[in-house]
Amino acid sequence: MATIRPRIGVMGGTFDPIHNGHLVAASEVANAFQLDEVIFVPTGLPWHKKTVSSAEHRYLMTVIATAANPNFTVSRVDLDRPGITYTVDTLIDISAAHPDADLFFISGSDAIAQILAWKQIDKVWSLAHFVAVTRPGHTLELPDAPGAQMSVLEVPAMAISSTAVRERSNTGKPIWYLVPDGVVQYIGKHGLYGGAK
Ligand code: NAP
Repeated sequence: MATIRPRIGVMGGTFDPIHNGHLVAASEVANAFQLDEVIFVPTGLPWHKKTVSSAEHRYLMTVIATAANPNFTVSRVDLDRPGITYTVDTLIDISAAHPDADLFFISGSDAIAQILAWKQIDKVWSLAHFVAVTRPGHTLELPDAPGAQMSVLEVPAMAISSTAVRERSNTGKPIWYLVPDGVVQYIGKHGLYGGAK
């Protein structure tokens, strides 16, 4: 009798901060691809960004945001590995922890549009199916990559963006209901992005 392999989503992102669009996206992809679990993986040091909130703040906000969902977990693999975060290393670490699982790497379409330039891309293709989450009105032409498994899913709630949440917070506008309540309180407590209203 054939064994059923677990299907695990790997939700990679900077999460500065995590918002409800990310959570809805993970839930929608889990439903569309019949995933058993989604592991949120906050990036350590994103290769293309200089100023992001500290890894511990981004990790703790992600833990707070996902705590209530029994199918969501958070991994520290990208935070605990020294140096710049590359998805090839993320997927090697997650598949070592879940050797029997099929992995689905979930991220934003802007990030996945650049995927052909990612480190060791041929190895990356062998490790996961890729799901690009698009915002309403944004189309994505999938890169031409023979042998790669890639899908696109439009998620209306992704109209929220981390950039917009930071800008609203920095200019004294409310961010309630754009991010989970506990994350609003965490931002206020630690004075991130000018402190939350
Ligand atoms: P980013 O450039 O900050 O984000 C690009 C776009 O995708 C933004 O609109 C962002 O919206 C959205 N996004 C990011 N993560 C998402 C997610 N999990 N679900 C839905 N939308 C998401 O990208 P990033 O966050 O730094 O990187 C995304 C992932 O790709 C990370 O795991 C990163 O390590 C990986 N990556 C790898 C390489 C490489 O291996 N060379 C290069 C680039 C990225 P928000 O701002 O609202 O999140």
